[in-house]
Amino acid sequence: AVVANQLIKHFGDIEVLKGVSLEVPEGSVTSIIGASGSGKSTLLRCMNLLERPDQGELAIADEAIRFTRNPQGGITGLDRRQLQRLRAKVAMVFQQFNLWPHLTVLGNVIEAPMRVKGLSRKQATALGEHYLERVGMADRRDAYPAFLSGGQQQRVAIGRALAMEPRLLLFDEPTSALDPERVNEVLGVIRGLADEGRTMLLVTHEMHFAREVSDQLVFLNQGHIAAEGTPEDVFDDPRCRQFMAPAA
Ligand code: ATP
Ligand code: MG
Repeated sequence: AVVANQLIKHFGDIEVLKGVSLEVPEGSVTSIIGASGSGKSTLLRCMNLLERPDQGELAIADEAIRFTRNPQGGITGLDRRQLQRLRAKVAMVFQQFNLWPHLTVLGNVIEAPMRVKGLSRKQATALGEHYLERVGMADRRDAYPAFLSGGQQQRVAIGRALAMEPRLLLFDEPTSALDPERVNEVLGVIRGLADEGRTMLLVTHEMHFAREVSDQLVFLNQGHIAAEGTPEDVFDDPRCRQFMAPAA
């Protein structure tokens, strides 16, 4: 499982995460919903250690870290190797795809396995081809991102995340930047991953989709978890009703 325990994160004087705890059991899907500015992306970025939590604990698979305030900055009690090892266990898919424009599709997918995991180009290519196949992009392996649609770019980004063979997959509004007619091809890939039993934490405004694929739903409100449970529980919670109504 992946566990966050009482995560606190400030930006300057503003407390963006006010003690957030959640558990994503192995092989399950948790979706985070909440208004703009409620801290959803910050929470994902903390899970990935793109941001350093000020306080709290994070456990990913068999490794746990405890954060304490450190005026010097840097992640307390966490050396570079440990940081790299933890990051390799968590992969993230961003709203804006964030593919490297100067690398081909295959180049994008094999970069991290080579650099972070130390695979040879040959090993990484075999892995990359496998996961590009998985997201339906194998035939475009030599294309550059600029020549792909948004949906295709996002599928490559998912392939890139999968190629790290992470214990946890994070998605931050993966379809929000897509043309409407491209949304379903990406949701279809994510649904397939959920069906495969991948451990995933997903931020999305696609309420119907969240309801369908999620084992657990978390409603984040101003840096607090205001409601959590099965999608049915959360959708029926009066505190969430108002928030859900427009999309329901
Ligand atoms: P959205 O739905 O718009 O993506 P969100 O729930 O993902 O919103 P966050 O991006 O996590 O919200 O932001 C939460 C709060 O933290 C906001 O008030 C935001 O302005 C602030 N914030 C986020 N990142 C930073 C940063 N790097 N520096 C300062 N403030 C930040
Ligand atoms: Mg966000």
